[in-house]
Amino acid sequence: GQCLSVCPTGALTEVDHTNDIIRALSDSSKTVIVQTAPAVRAALGEEFGLKPGTLVTGKMVSALKELGFDYVFDTDFSADLTIMEEGTELLQRLKAFMSGDTNVRLPILTSCCPGWVNFFEHNFPDLLDVPSTAKSPQQMFGAIAKTYFADKIGVSRKDLIVVSIMPCIAKKYECQRDEFKVDGNQDVDYSISTRELAAFIKEANIDFLNLPDSDFDDPLGESTGAGVIFGNTGGVIEAACRTAYELYTGKKLEKVEFDNLRGMEGIRSAKVDFGGLELNIGIAHGLGNARKLLNEVRAGTSKYHAIEIMACPGGCIGGGGQPYHHGKSEILNRRAAAIYSEDKRKIIRKSHENPSIIKLYNEFLGEPGSHKAHSLLHTEYFPKSNEVTLHLNGEI
Ligand code: SF4
Repeated sequence: GQCLSVCPTGALTEVDHTNDIIRALSDSSKTVIVQTAPAVRAALGEEFGLKPGTLVTGKMVSALKELGFDYVFDTDFSADLTIMEEGTELLQRLKAFMSGDTNVRLPILTSCCPGWVNFFEHNFPDLLDVPSTAKSPQQMFGAIAKTYFADKIGVSRKDLIVVSIMPCIAKKYECQRDEFKVDGNQDVDYSISTRELAAFIKEANIDFLNLPDSDFDDPLGESTGAGVIFGNTGGVIEAACRTAYELYTGKKLEKVEFDNLRGMEGIRSAKVDFGGLELNIGIAHGLGNARKLLNEVRAGTSKYHAIEIMACPGGCIGGGGQPYHHGKSEILNRRAAAIYSEDKRKIIRKSHENPSIIKLYNEFLGEPGSHKAHSLLHTEYFPKSNEVTLHLNGEI
C-alpha cells in the first residue's frame, strides 16, 4: 500500500483499527476471534529482527492468545474452503465447455485478491462474469464464523467480533463492502495488517521472540498445505489443481507439488495434465501484468482455461501491509520458500482432505456449490467508475 497515501480522492487513507480491537477485547459481552492470513507468518518475524523467511506461526498464535483473543483461527482453513468452491466452479465450467456449451465463460479467474477485484471492477467492467464468484478466504471465514461457529458456541452475531490479520491494505476495504454485511453487521469487523499486528504486540510489551509455540484453535484453525501456499504467487491455482485433478480424474495425485506453476516471473504460463485433458494455466502478479492477460481475454485471444491474478509482487507475501520489502527479490524469495516449507511439513496437503472442511460440509453446507454454500460463500461484482482506481503497488 505504499501508494495509498497519494490516492487522489483522499478517501482511501489507511485506517488502523487496532484501538477498536482493544475496545472489543476489553468488553466482556463480546467474543473476539481472529484469523491470520497465510503470508503473515512468513514475514511477521522481520518486525522483531528475525531474518526474512523465518516462520513464526506458533509464536504468532501465542502472541494473539496473550493479547486476549478468545479463539485464534487460521485463514488457511477458509483458503481450503475457497478451493472447494472455486475448484468446483472451475470443473463445472470446464465440463460445460467440453460438452459444447458456447455460453460458458473461460478462462475462469481467481477472485481472492481484493486489490485485483477492485482493479477489474474499474477497468474491465465488461468482464465481470469471468472471475470466479467464490468469495475470498477472508470473507468466507467471516461468513462461516458468524453462522456455523456462532451457533456452535451459542453467541449471537452481534456479540461475535471477527478480526483478521492480513498482509494487505485492500482487505480493510474488502470487509467493508456492502455485500459482506448482514443487516449492517460486517462478516469481518476489523482487518489489521502484519505491520499493525507487530506494533500491537510491541505496545502490549509481549516478549515475542521468547514466546513458546502454540497451535491454532479448532475447528476454524485446521488447514492443509494447500491453504498455506495461497500466500505465494501461483499458490492459489496450485491448490486448486491439487483438488480439481483428484475430483476430475478420480485418481490420487502422485506428486502434489506443481513445480511448473511456481516462480517469480511476472507472467507465467503452464500446462497441467488432467488425465488426458490438458489445462492451460496463466499466472500474473502485479496489476500491469494482469492487464496484459485481461486484454487478451477481452479480445477473445486468451489461450487459458484458468488464470490466477494477485495484485502485489510475489503475491500476498509481498503485500502492502507486510514489513517493508522495497521490492527486494531476496526478501520475497525467502518468504516464498518459508511458505512452501510450511506446506511440505503438513501431513495433509489437499484442501478436500481437511477433516474440518469435510465436517463443515457434512454438518452445515451440504455439497460444494450447494444453495447454502452459494448464499454464504459466493458473491458478485459491480462496475465501478474508472476515476477512483486503488493504487496498491504503483503498477497501475
Ligand atoms: Fe492483498 Fe496484495 Fe494479497 Fe491481493 S496480492 S490479497 S492486494 S496482499
